[in-house]
Amino acid sequence: MREREQKFYLKCTSCGEEIDTFDKWFQHGQRCPECGDNKADVIYTDKMARIDDLLHDKDPYFSGLWRYFDYLPLNSKENIVSCGEGIVPIDRWRFLEKFAEENHGIKLKVFAHRHDDNFATGTFKDLAGSMIASVLKENGIKTYVTASTGNVGVAYARYLAAADITLYAFIPSNASHAQEAEIGCFGQKVFRVNGDYQAAKEMALEFSRKNNMLLAAGNFDPMRIESKKTMVYE
Ligand SMILES: [Zn+2]
Repeated sequence: MREREQKFYLKCTSCGEEIDTFDKWFQHGQRCPECGDNKADVIYTDKMARIDDLLHDKDPYFSGLWRYFDYLPLNSKENIVSCGEGIVPIDRWRFLEKFAEENHGIKLKVFAHRHDDNFATGTFKDLAGSMIASVLKENGIKTYVTASTGNVGVAYARYLAAADITLYAFIPSNASHAQEAEIGCFGQKVFRVNGDYQAAKEMALEFSRKNNMLLAAGNFDPMRIESKKTMVYE
């Protein structure tokens, strides 16, 4: 691999074309400029071996997406858009440690995840929302279009609002009114389409083309894939 100043670049999974920046990727409609394929890997120029150090050197009291900053496709920490996602509170169970040492002579540290049902954090849609909002912010994108059955739309609405990015969300006719209202609460634009999710996707595509705006690329989106990766690290 040739020497690069950059932290990461994209590589087309079909033809191997190297795409230097997300900016370039966005300019080509989130496709390879060479062959037009919509799938690309994010390649980090740093050694992946360092992940091992990271995993053994983590603050046990917090876990979260941005702890893996070195392995996420963002250049500057200043562009991180976070709503406290993935910060899973952890309790240290000293009573159990004491019990183990006194009764069995075993020295150990016990950490337990604290369950808080009212505040679900660290779900994939939150991670993806944080990742996408951050990358869009770093690349100066001000508008984003998505079709959503509701859940993803709400997460994107929240994170993009935090980054001052306008979201245009197209939801199917049977989407919940609560979620529609929630997307609106974040000051985002929501359109209920007279039809199913497929119809919402078509409307979103047409709208994004007509207005020359970025459209959420779905499961193959490198930004989404990279955020999912952090769930594997945990
Ligand atoms: Zn290609």
